[in-house]
Amino acid sequence: MRVLVTGGAGYIGSHTCKALARAGHTPIVYDNLRTGHAWAVKWGPFEHGDINDLAGLSDAMRRHRPDAVINFAALAYVGESVARPDLYYQTNVTGMITLMQAMRFHEVKAIVLSSSCATYGVPARVPISEETPQHPINPYGRSKRMAEEVMRDVCAAYGLGGVALRYFNAAGADRDGELGEEHEPETHLIPLVLQAAAGRRADVSIFGSDYDTPDGTCVRDYVHVTDLASAHVAALSKCPPGGFSAYNLGSGRGSSIAEVISCARAVTGKEIVAQHGPRRPGDPPVLVADAARAREGLGWVPVHSDLERVITDAWAWMTIHRARLPAGG
Ligand code: UDP
Repeated sequence: MRVLVTGGAGYIGSHTCKALARAGHTPIVYDNLRTGHAWAVKWGPFEHGDINDLAGLSDAMRRHRPDAVINFAALAYVGESVARPDLYYQTNVTGMITLMQAMRFHEVKAIVLSSSCATYGVPARVPISEETPQHPINPYGRSKRMAEEVMRDVCAAYGLGGVALRYFNAAGADRDGELGEEHEPETHLIPLVLQAAAGRRADVSIFGSDYDTPDGTCVRDYVHVTDLASAHVAALSKCPPGGFSAYNLGSGRGSSIAEVISCARAVTGKEIVAQHGPRRPGDPPVLVADAARAREGLGWVPVHSDLERVITDAWAWMTIHRARLPAGG
């Protein structure tokens, strides 16, 4: 298949392009490089463009004639979404509408959307299945829920097929060292912990130690980016006309912040100074996926998502592979 990958120069998008190429597909990356990286586009043609540019999307589709689209083009900082909600709705929701309009014009029938467990908000129960009501608690989570709704309605009306993949905490890096996580600013726990191990920051702050969890710190479900990538490839063949489905993508195991730091100390052999700080507003105590539906519906098994493996691969990327890239990319 020829697959237009919007946002394909980003962290999860680029790993998915590699998985697509490995599976015999051709990924065509469409990205504005605002947060993505030119060095991460390696497995097919690149089109520089914005998700809100209907003419640009249309032109890319006319020339490349994709069979399907995977949409990663989005903004994804919760704090920024509170400060600039209009920007988030513009990119994540209007962008989705624009993309689906271009798909209609060019009769592209299948779409896979990058969604998030942030659409659930603070769940009443864990693990979280897809039946859990979606009550997001910030504009980022709401924008992703809206994007899912846009997709479901447009698919039903025009006979397209759509799959929403709701990620838990994406982490890790390509084991071959060709790709990894590179955010500016970095806000995610594992890269920050590893930056502290590498001496790139003095310490890491633990946001709250008084949660109702076994060690008082928040519990999250870390899922290896290579496992996420394979789910997108599998989802491409699960887009029947008019259909909409959603799948949680997580390892099904929870790790606390304290466990992440202790595992990172073991993997790196480095001192990591952790400071206890206040809670971060809007953080649910525990988010763990029930990924049974993805296992049954997509045949998806997360084989790389053991915490030690995730941290080992992220550490190798940060300390060995990233250093080989050209400066400023
Ligand atoms: N966290 C932390 N210190 C940091 C960054 C994150 O204690 O410097 C915590 C955060 O409060 C959450 C967990 O680590 O409980 C995972 O946060 P991250 O931002 O990586 O992902 P999120 O769960 O927000 O998607």
